[in-house]
Amino acid sequence: MEVDFPWRQADEYDEGIERMRKIEYPMLQDATYLDHAGTTLPAKSFMETFAQDMILNLYGNPHSASGPSQRSADRIENVRSRLLTLFNADPSEYDLVFVSNTTAGVKLVSEGMRSLPGGFNFAHHQACHTSLVGVREEAQHARCFDDEDAEQLLQGGASLFDDCADTPDTLVAFTAQSHFDGKRYPLTWARDIRDCSPASQSRTYTLLDAASLAATSPLDLSDHDRAPDFTVLSLYKLFGFPDVGVLIVRLAAGSVFSRRKYFGGGTVDMVITGKEQWHAPKMDLLHERLEDGTLPFHNIISVEAAIDTHQVLYGSMAQVSSHTSRLRKQLVNGLHALEHGNGNPLCKVYGEAGNGADFGPIVSFNLRNIAGAWLSLAEFDKIATLKQMHVRTGGMCSPGGLASALCLQPWEMKRNFSAGLRCGTDSDLTDGKPSGVIRVSFGAMSTASDVTRFLDFLKDFFIEDEPPNPTIRTTLHASSRGLQVKSLSVFPIKSCGPFEIPPGVRWEVKREGLAWDREWCLVHRGSGQALSQKRYPQMALLKPELDFEQGTLRISCRGTPQLGSAEVPLSLNPDLFEDNPRQISSRVCGESISTHYYKSQRINSFFSEALGIPCTLARFPAGGKGSGSRSSKARIQQYQQANTHQRLPGSFPDIPSPPDSDSEVQHHGKILLSNESPILMIQSASVAALNKGIEARGSGRVDEASFRANIVFGPSGQDDEEHPFAEDTWRSIRIGSQDFKLLGACRRCQMVCVDQQTGEKRQEPYSTLAKTRRFDGKVYFGCHMRHEPSTIRRTAEEQWPTIQVGDRVTVEDMHI
Ligand SMILES: *Cc1c(COP(=O)(O)O)cnc(C)c1O
Repeated sequence: MEVDFPWRQADEYDEGIERMRKIEYPMLQDATYLDHAGTTLPAKSFMETFAQDMILNLYGNPHSASGPSQRSADRIENVRSRLLTLFNADPSEYDLVFVSNTTAGVKLVSEGMRSLPGGFNFAHHQACHTSLVGVREEAQHARCFDDEDAEQLLQGGASLFDDCADTPDTLVAFTAQSHFDGKRYPLTWARDIRDCSPASQSRTYTLLDAASLAATSPLDLSDHDRAPDFTVLSLYKLFGFPDVGVLIVRLAAGSVFSRRKYFGGGTVDMVITGKEQWHAPKMDLLHERLEDGTLPFHNIISVEAAIDTHQVLYGSMAQVSSHTSRLRKQLVNGLHALEHGNGNPLCKVYGEAGNGADFGPIVSFNLRNIAGAWLSLAEFDKIATLKQMHVRTGGMCSPGGLASALCLQPWEMKRNFSAGLRCGTDSDLTDGKPSGVIRVSFGAMSTASDVTRFLDFLKDFFIEDEPPNPTIRTTLHASSRGLQVKSLSVFPIKSCGPFEIPPGVRWEVKREGLAWDREWCLVHRGSGQALSQKRYPQMALLKPELDFEQGTLRISCRGTPQLGSAEVPLSLNPDLFEDNPRQISSRVCGESISTHYYKSQRINSFFSEALGIPCTLARFPAGGKGSGSRSSKARIQQYQQANTHQRLPGSFPDIPSPPDSDSEVQHHGKILLSNESPILMIQSASVAALNKGIEARGSGRVDEASFRANIVFGPSGQDDEEHPFAEDTWRSIRIGSQDFKLLGACRRCQMVCVDQQTGEKRQEPYSTLAKTRRFDGKVYFGCHMRHEPSTIRRTAEEQWPTIQVGDRVTVEDMHI
């Protein structure tokens, strides 16, 4: 290993890590990685050592007599023994079973307990990870206990299961360190709980979840009398790689598995099938009976290099532990020191009950604005992602930890669920309470400058100097004098490039939007989800062209002329499509949209090749009725309304946007019928004003195309006075001879950062928008609007309403 690292001087530790990090973690160049489940990234020298091993040696499936097979078997046993040593676990007292992750270890224990005569009772501590809570579904009786219960129990004043004599055996699970807020729980609980088993014929087993603790702290199982019966953890949390978990079993509790029913290749000595059914389970070693099938042997073999590299880079787990706990202190102090201009704190940090509790290097918190209202996590996420601050937000797979931190009642969590909140989707606010937290979690390679960078980021984006002015709209202007339609665009395929309507061409406006806007979408062949630029920015490079003479939509790919183009007939000829419509799901309210998939191999492979993603072109049924519709996404935002209070906490129970939307979805279908998709409009003066802000912050201007508007308004004459953001105040406007109703400001996400010419992601304009156009925690730019057809249809214009570039724009009604 080339890294020469002066470990042992504690005061140089940080500086040393900084230096080492440049060599070992090239992927951290621009990123601040503070996310759990991998806070320790695999070091470069470790991966090189492993790669070298794989190149030079032949390893075979361990269940045979060949040389390569024996080599694998030997290496696996070496790793087993080194891991036991790492955790101070004496091999005569413990066995170590390889599993795929912590969760799989928990399931294996659950499987054993379930096969005991009479089943089992299950109790888990409130701070447990979801993966442990699930065991309750297999138990005869189950309960959750908190710190107070635990104390009473340990003092002999209570028992976990009083009236469950029919179920003699009990499993008690707890976490060594909460992955939610870092709080640590005494490992001595294991013995104490075992000891307070009430009746002699019943046994209580303990299951310790060490996944979070072991990532950055020593796990010491040397005292086997006190140790938990079962300990589970995931190795990727220690070393970043491999993605393998272990279950460490105290041999004294090994009998739990003796009635396990399932056997697989690897866990039996002989199997007879056919007329007779008989098998002989392996009897000698516990791990031989529990490791069903072929172990991930290449992965396991890498662990030796992982342990070696970890030692060279970080010295010991004890050193990692003290280093990361220093970082925690630095962060907590920093968070407490962050104040808004009026002295209100920015952060509410969870899990600090004090009374000497010990904490691991994890901090959970929420942000509040200057008036004390919570900041939406979804909005925080967007800005954090943009700034490459990799932290996690949400419920953290910690139902108990979350509920107690946020004082959420079960009915509130259920209501949030009904409102569309899910694990893994954007979290937001409900009735003035956050529904999740922001979690920072440090690993061995984290440094003091990560903390500083993160604190600076919070300061930069979330500290407010002055309370909001009750009339935020400083640019309130009655005027729309001299405005005209500067450009018109439709986006025939959702999330792809625009088709610009040439000057002189009249374009039909329908109640559901501009003609041909978002008629098609691309669907991922694997997941069935509509593709979005948010995830696949290269979609911007797909240039559609509507050719009415040929009757085709022609698509080419900017920058890849050799791909040629795809021609999609505009007609709805049923022969083009698969027989049955398919549902594609959007994440909003579990709604699904029905589409027709194209059959043509040529068309589909054009898109798949252009994007490098297996996908299929799909078309929305004509008319967009019912479930086939493109849903509405607009409503008047509160900041746009005059005479209302600004920033009422929790007043925007917005629903997360589907991954396929171009703009953020607002309250679903509240104002519009469900078959309408509004027109998105921006004003060039607003883009210019924003660009001034962007330039003032030292970045380059963005063009109007970034905002993917259908209509851009610009001044009609040279000298016409411009009023940036005046559109915020409009209620209804007239373009040429057509009336439009304004539906509300357009909520924005990082998608505006995709350069529509190159498909590359930038930091702007979202960075500046987040500072200058954030209201109630959300970022707005541009407005949605809807065509209001005239009720009388006598003239040609009334029957076939159109607009075109150069049409005059007048404001008919405004919020004042
Ligand atoms: C990460 C984690 C788990 C889950 O680990 P998997 O590898 O996803 O099975 C369980 N408990 C705690 C405390 C964790 O931190």
